[in-house]
Amino acid sequence: MDKKTAPKVGIISLGCPKALVDSERILTKLGAEGYEISESYEDANVVLVNTCGFIDSAREESLEAIREAMAENGRVIVTGCLGIDEGAIREVAPNVLSVTGPHQYEQVVEAVHDAVPPLHDPFIDLVGPEGMKLTPRHYSYLKISEGCNHHCKFCIIPDIRGPLASRPVGDVLREAERLVDSGVKELLVISQDTSAYGLDLNYANSDWRGNPVKTDMYNLANSLGDLGAWVRLHYVYPYPNVDNAIELMADGKILPYLDIPFQHASPNVLKSMARPAHAEKVLERIEKWRDICPDIAIRSTFIVGYPGETEDDFETLLDFLEDAQLDRVGCFQYENIDGAQANTLPDHVDADEKLSRWERFMEMSQDISERKLLDRIGQSMDVLIDEVTEQGSIGRTYADSPEIDGNVYLDGVTDLKAGDMVKATITKSGAYDLWGEIE
Ligand code: SF4
Repeated sequence: MDKKTAPKVGIISLGCPKALVDSERILTKLGAEGYEISESYEDANVVLVNTCGFIDSAREESLEAIREAMAENGRVIVTGCLGIDEGAIREVAPNVLSVTGPHQYEQVVEAVHDAVPPLHDPFIDLVGPEGMKLTPRHYSYLKISEGCNHHCKFCIIPDIRGPLASRPVGDVLREAERLVDSGVKELLVISQDTSAYGLDLNYANSDWRGNPVKTDMYNLANSLGDLGAWVRLHYVYPYPNVDNAIELMADGKILPYLDIPFQHASPNVLKSMARPAHAEKVLERIEKWRDICPDIAIRSTFIVGYPGETEDDFETLLDFLEDAQLDRVGCFQYENIDGAQANTLPDHVDADEKLSRWERFMEMSQDISERKLLDRIGQSMDVLIDEVTEQGSIGRTYADSPEIDGNVYLDGVTDLKAGDMVKATITKSGAYDLWGEIE
């Protein structure tokens, strides 16, 4: 096989993990046809830019990436969320070869065929059972659905991605099984709304290993839990059915980790966002979840400076944060998004005030994180290794999702490899990270 003759595709993948999964699907298809990934502009026959159009800064970043790819290579295919605004793309780069929207895999692959035809070679037509992945081999995102049925006013995802469209649970489980068989140690379940999974299919049964399994979050998580990998749930909307998943965490079937975006705690702001608005009930539920599963690590994201957010609303949010003692917290300053309903709301918060609230929020959440991590000292924890450097190994515990949460540093431990699972005693803690020694 003459690898040098294989056509090469460069890829720039911007945006969220969901966009990353789209990129992986496209590359898997191209890989099966003999294309290779190119690490440089010069070496690529064509460059694929998978864009994000979620907020203004992401649009700008995407447009900048397109400009750069055009300047450096000149043969550019654009896809992803910003693809729905072809006019904006053609304004900065009139000669891009093709523009498509999110998850239009077939059209993207066709555009690549047009730009640089595939080689039909039985040797390079092969691709491993795990597909081509942009994430390290030992963890993988598992996309269970597209779209969302909610209409949060700050968000345009339902307009871009459409209403909820779930994959039958048997399909998802077969993909997960292939991933685990090919060495994946951690499966990260993603979607726009994981707790609504299956609603659009009426929770229909789907075949898995010769048995019917209901397409819903509980049965998906339960079956994934049998595959022998870590299973982590992301983007879980706070519906009542979340409680069932906590039972699976308590039973050790899936990781006791819940990523549940609350966005705010003030009923006024939540109502204006068109989100569920019962912060007290949320606190009661968190308490209940901790009763059922004391080890649970809860991650959430919030928006500060939403239009109409008063100082009182913001203090309600800080009080909630103090009471809820969440383990991991992300916070965004509100930004207008082209086409979002929130843009037209009255009383936008000025930029200085937004920044100051964000700083106050982050200071409190950092204090909480620091106090909680102090309690880890002396504990024995499983650590999944992500990276080994000359200084030592870097990994994560069940409480940390890759890229967004903290790390565990095993200084001086260099004889491990990515994907190893080790037991470590925690010896030191910081604001977000831990340090440990192998047992
Ligand atoms: S639930 Fe999430 S994806 Fe759906 S509209 Fe709200 S913020 Fe957007």
